[in-house]
Amino acid sequence: MQPNLKCDVVVVGAGPAGSTAARFLAKNGIDVIVVDKRQEIGAPKRCAEGIRLKALEKVGLKPNPAWAVNSIRGAVLYAPSGKQLKTVIDDSGGYILERKIFEKHIAAEAIRAGARYMVKTLATGVMKENGYVSGIRAEYMGDEFEIKSRLVIAADGVDSRIAKSAGLDTVNKVTDYHSGFQYEMANLNMNDSDMLHIYFGDNIAPKGYVWIFPKGKDIANVGVGILGLKSDDGNRAKDYLDRFIKDHPEIFKNSSPIEINAGGVPVSSSVDTLVADGLMVVGDAAQQVNPIHGGGIALAMNAARIAADIATKAIRENDLSKEKLQEYEKIWRETDGARMKKLLKLRNFLEKLDDNDFEKFADILKGEDIVRLTGGRYKFLLKLFMKKAPKMLSLAKKFLI
Ligand SMILES: Cc1cc2nc3c(=O)[nH]c(=O)nc-3n(C[C@H](O)[C@H](O)[C@H](O)COP(=O)(O)OP(=O)(O)OC[C@H]3O[C@@H](n4cnc5c(N)ncnc54)[C@H](O)[C@@H]3O)c2cc1C
Repeated sequence: MQPNLKCDVVVVGAGPAGSTAARFLAKNGIDVIVVDKRQEIGAPKRCAEGIRLKALEKVGLKPNPAWAVNSIRGAVLYAPSGKQLKTVIDDSGGYILERKIFEKHIAAEAIRAGARYMVKTLATGVMKENGYVSGIRAEYMGDEFEIKSRLVIAADGVDSRIAKSAGLDTVNKVTDYHSGFQYEMANLNMNDSDMLHIYFGDNIAPKGYVWIFPKGKDIANVGVGILGLKSDDGNRAKDYLDRFIKDHPEIFKNSSPIEINAGGVPVSSSVDTLVADGLMVVGDAAQQVNPIHGGGIALAMNAARIAADIATKAIRENDLSKEKLQEYEKIWRETDGARMKKLLKLRNFLEKLDDNDFEKFADILKGEDIVRLTGGRYKFLLKLFMKKAPKMLSLAKKFLI
């Protein structure tokens, strides 16, 4: 029989968001319990595993070759015709992670700081007292039990049920999500295994892209994201990926998958509210994902760091009200949230382009322009369109201004 438990903070989910929140809380001397329904933290992965060095540093992590398995210095973008645009990542690049090891590492760091972890433990819903979330109900190996707490942090990913069970609406329209499908593949014949490779085109991935993220010389995550569950002609993400692989024998002829990953990626980066009395929502559960490339690890960890800081203050001041916890939401919306709002405009603009427009892009843009665009700087684009692509100007004005 699993006994009922008590702590300051229950974190639901031991992904990048949950374990980062737990690590910072525990470091601050807060009594924290993390529950995860998976029997093994980090597996199965639902991720292409790309992250920038800057994002790791922001949450105090130093890349370790055990989990930062391949250094990346930039990206090659491919227009539908195959024309390439190379861009180098500023501020010393990034990595492809081995997430199964990375997630265990950040969980272990949280445990070393004092957090308690429970794996194979499903949170089934929140408990409430006087309108405040006061803990969770959970199941472990057939036993039902309760964990009473002063605060619950919902870090339970894109399928979050915890925020919903507390009464928050964190689910968006189907078209606010990408369907992601990926193979990790071995024995690829790749050029530039220190670059991300990203392919655009209506026949390749409608309103999305195919990626090859190298984990080494001949191993890579090869995946696709398309908007919604199926394209207009009824094809699923898997169909697009299989076709891409078949159409590129020069890369894939002698390769095979060693893993399949699939999952939803929230790309609208917006939910109405991130807190309630006694509750905070972080990471994919709060749709804190980059609307341009669907990357969420960096945002999840940074949001968790901010949430842990505000949660610590709230606990010390014995005020777990929504108003107090809103300080987290405010900071997030003024920083990463504001950046994501800008990038959502770029996404809405890109979704209106056809293959010819992407070809034009490849003709007129330089590598450093991609860095400017993904940094949310668009003014230069209007000037460029005025000179070199007047047809795109009104569209750009409508969506980017
Ligand atoms: C195909 C694909 C490729 C991607 N590629 C990248 C990439 O290259 N780079 C990048 O930055 N991001 C990428 N992402 C997004 C990234 O994986 C997420 O943004 C990131 O995992 C979010 O972290 P999180 O901690 O919020 O959620 P998650 O990593 O989803 O963790 C949530 C955790 O909560 C647990 N959980 C859920 N419900 C419960 C419950 N009721 N009780 C207990 N535990 C529960 C889950 O088991 C899980 O461990 C990709 C996503 C997909 C689908």
